[in-house]
Amino acid sequence: MFSLNEFPLPFNSVALEPYISQETIDFHHGKHLATYIKNLNDLYQGTQYENLPLNDIIIQTAKDDSAKKIFNNAAQVYNHNFFFHCLSNEKFPIPSEITEAFESAENFYSQFKSVATSIFGSGWAWLVQEKDGTLKIISTANADTPIAHNLKPILTIDVWEHSYYLDYQNRRADYIDTVLKNLINWEFVKENLQK
Ligand code: MN
Repeated sequence: MFSLNEFPLPFNSVALEPYISQETIDFHHGKHLATYIKNLNDLYQGTQYENLPLNDIIIQTAKDDSAKKIFNNAAQVYNHNFFFHCLSNEKFPIPSEITEAFESAENFYSQFKSVATSIFGSGWAWLVQEKDGTLKIISTANADTPIAHNLKPILTIDVWEHSYYLDYQNRRADYIDTVLKNLINWEFVKENLQK
């Protein structure tokens, strides 16, 4: 059984104001993530996936069409926990690995924003690393996650409407811009690059 206590917010829920409100964070972590955890617990009990670590559940259910609901909820737990760790109100420099791979910080921001704003419906924008070290920006639809595709997640932004609607309504591009320029925990991103 998973519990919300295993996935605490890495910051105080007011810390991202004025860019993301405490209300948004409280709903996002305390309601949305909590519901994915509850659904996962309800769904995987009594299956072959019960008691496996979260990443193993995701990788194994990704190949099992009959376990789509378990995959969706497990992947959403993973994605949200990863996303919250990508956010911080502390300022760190963007890692040189990224500015070199994308030629400049501005190029990286604009390519990431373009991918994120192009998602039709709900999904996630990611910076991922391939096995050979190549960095690329991708999107995944709904609950899908890079670890199901043998890609290492480096950075993500949640592009489901619940992540920004209270603060930005339909202005998805403003939300993406604001998060990229003000709230990314580049220290966490750097650690992911070095893993
Ligand atoms: Mn979300």
